[in-house]
Amino acid sequence: MPTESTFFLAGLFLLLAAAGWALGRFGERDYDEAAAPPPNIDYLKGLNFLLNEQTDQALEHFLKMVRVDDRTIETHFALGSLFRRRGEIDRAIRIHQNIIARPDLASEQRDQALFSLAKDYLRAGLLDRAEKLFVKLSQGSRYQVEALEQLCRIYEQEHEWQKAIDAGQKLEVLSGRSLELEIAHYYCELAEQAAANKDYSAARAFVKKAQSGRPRTHRGALTRAEIARDTDDTKTALRLYHRIIDENTYLMTEALPQLVRTYSKEGATDQLERSLEAALKKNPDLKTDIAYSAIVNNIGGVKVIDDCVEEYLLHEPTLAEFVDMQIIGAEDSAERSAALARVRSALCKIAQSTPRYQCKECGFSSQRLLWQCPSCKDWETQRPFSRVQFDSLLQRSHSAA
Ligand SMILES: [Zn+2]
Repeated sequence: MPTESTFFLAGLFLLLAAAGWALGRFGERDYDEAAAPPPNIDYLKGLNFLLNEQTDQALEHFLKMVRVDDRTIETHFALGSLFRRRGEIDRAIRIHQNIIARPDLASEQRDQALFSLAKDYLRAGLLDRAEKLFVKLSQGSRYQVEALEQLCRIYEQEHEWQKAIDAGQKLEVLSGRSLELEIAHYYCELAEQAAANKDYSAARAFVKKAQSGRPRTHRGALTRAEIARDTDDTKTALRLYHRIIDENTYLMTEALPQLVRTYSKEGATDQLERSLEAALKKNPDLKTDIAYSAIVNNIGGVKVIDDCVEEYLLHEPTLAEFVDMQIIGAEDSAERSAALARVRSALCKIAQSTPRYQCKECGFSSQRLLWQCPSCKDWETQRPFSRVQFDSLLQRSHSAA
């Protein structure tokens, strides 16, 4: 099946044939390559490769035949980017290397060719080679800004966070755009790496840097709380987890289980009861978030949390399809608490097998909270679902019916 690039190459050969014919006809051809066969044979040979669907040979033939000069350079660039777009990366690389090999190339065209070649390498997954070229271009070319943007992406992919910070800071200066959110996350990544290596003082210093940016990332408080928890600094850990819940941030689903665990360890769940009651008084909307968080994390045994869960279950319309709401709604009976426990445990199972977070930019969903969306690559765009996703349960029950 002929591809778009085959047609493009065929078009080029036809153009060259026409040009060659005209030059030959009017005797303007420069015969410095006297040994070369007459042009028409060259073009026919190239076309023959294409007709036999031998695109690689046709391309090699084209490259040998047409040296890069000022008149043909744009054609070479167009062909290179066409091949890359079509995923024919080896061919794109061949074209761009061919341009760079031209000895008297103007510096602007060399940069353009290097930038194109770097994009080919990136597309081929050859990150080291792409990085080298982007670093070169970031040090003074008209592709500086794009090169730094690509470098940030590469360093994110390779978890080279310090290099990502350096590239991000240069990019801020050159583009005039704020990258404080991204840079704050890079520092949080460094903090988490340091904490994993038990270098807690370095970890705290990195969080401090992350927290100095505007807009502030909510992740900083959570990372700092985790460091405090791991170093048995319970007071700081509790203060930070409380702050996350009081500020009603989307990190409630991460902070609540930690809070319950820490208070239980300290034997002080009554304190947790009191502080959650106070938070709910201030902001009754927290009820749904607390209930959802308790269900998906299978947290029970704290009265104020259990009350939130119960209220949530009684007001969840989808549940009526599966549960006898009269039993759940009945007053004080053993049957009622058993029914509630069954529903709660079933919901927990559903929640654990369905996505809990979704990217607000592109809709990508995942079980675990991901700070950088794997799909759109934006930072801190994931939000928890506020209700258990019943889709799979509904599908199952409908297919069984
Ligand atoms: Zn996304």
